[in-house]
Amino acid sequence: MPLAKKDIVAYFTERFGQPPTLVVRAPGRVNLIGEHTDYNDGFVLPLAIDRAVWIALRPRSDCRVKVYSIDYQEAREFDLANLKHEKAGWIEYLKGVAWCLQDAGMKLQGWEGVLAGDVPLGAGLSSSAALEMATARAFAAVSDIAWDAVAQAKLGQRSENKWIGVNCGIMDQLISSTGLAGHATLIDCRSLELQPAPLPAGVAVVVLDTATRRGLVDSAYNERRSQCEAAAAFFQVKALRDVTMAMFEAKSGQLDATTCCRARHVISEDDRTIHAVEAMRRGDIATLGRLMNESHASLRDDYDVSSDALNVMVEAAQAHKACYGARMTGAGFGGCAVAIVRVDAADDFVAATSSAYQAKTGHKPAVYVCSATDGAALV
Ligand code: ADP
Ligand code: MG
Repeated sequence: MPLAKKDIVAYFTERFGQPPTLVVRAPGRVNLIGEHTDYNDGFVLPLAIDRAVWIALRPRSDCRVKVYSIDYQEAREFDLANLKHEKAGWIEYLKGVAWCLQDAGMKLQGWEGVLAGDVPLGAGLSSSAALEMATARAFAAVSDIAWDAVAQAKLGQRSENKWIGVNCGIMDQLISSTGLAGHATLIDCRSLELQPAPLPAGVAVVVLDTATRRGLVDSAYNERRSQCEAAAAFFQVKALRDVTMAMFEAKSGQLDATTCCRARHVISEDDRTIHAVEAMRRGDIATLGRLMNESHASLRDDYDVSSDALNVMVEAAQAHKACYGARMTGAGFGGCAVAIVRVDAADDFVAATSSAYQAKTGHKPAVYVCSATDGAALV
């Protein structure tokens, strides 16, 4: 059972002896299709999931923020008038958001409360963005700041870039703040235009964590980014988003083999993502699934960011008769796959895929059947 409002209210009440004034929730996310396209000004299609970070709080009359983390069983606090980096830890995410909001001219009020979540940490479902957006929502509520979901997502991203030091794109914070129940959202990473698309009825979204992580992700990621920049420069455009498949095919012979493959992935992935949204609007699940399978092949062969574990997981998923399509999701080299499956067979899919994966790799996977929920909100 996902964490619910009554749980966080009970945690608060136990600690403070009375119920909270405010409760906020911000979800994690999974990306259905559109991988390694965000930094090419392209398209992504994530959904906010039914796993989230929750904060229950009450205002304070001073500038202090005092938070008890249920998951870390630890109390931490800081002063809004004197924000300083300390050693890495969960409180830094809250401080970073406070710093960004204040830097943007917002006047923040202190508060005290409890924090709990059920987005698995470091699994690729973006618990960090959920924590940032829950924090932003809490500060906005307690400080009487009108909630602008897109502006707040940009501030959340900025805090992760500048305070935490992680070079993430805008997708995670934006879908955590703007997600819509029952929908995935097409995000144009250049204009930040959002287009919700309904998840077809009868479909479950399943996240399959390979339980493998690889170091060197950062260097491989930076290398891919430089290769994409080089390809964009070759085509004399701002970003690969501006290259159509026809333009690519006309001149791809002049690119070196590696750059050619990298560019082909990004350009074809943008096309697949647009086609995936159109398929969702028609309720054409078969096409959506096929595009996800093609995305995986492109990430594996052209972009070279899959791994043996991810390939085994995706093949196990695709082999199940209730599966419409599956692919790796996230930066790659480990982490999670995502599949869309017939909802009435989801339990069988989870059991069969998990045991097939474990038998082949020896790793015990974690599997999450997800539904699409609303973004960050007062609840
Ligand atoms: P992810 O892929 O899940 O975003 P990150 O390493 O970017 O992984 O972020 C995980 C960090 O976010 C944790 O180490 C912790 O500091 C913070 N965090 C996430 N969820 C919670 C939570 N429920 N309570 C406290 N801190 C959390
Ligand atoms: Mg993160």
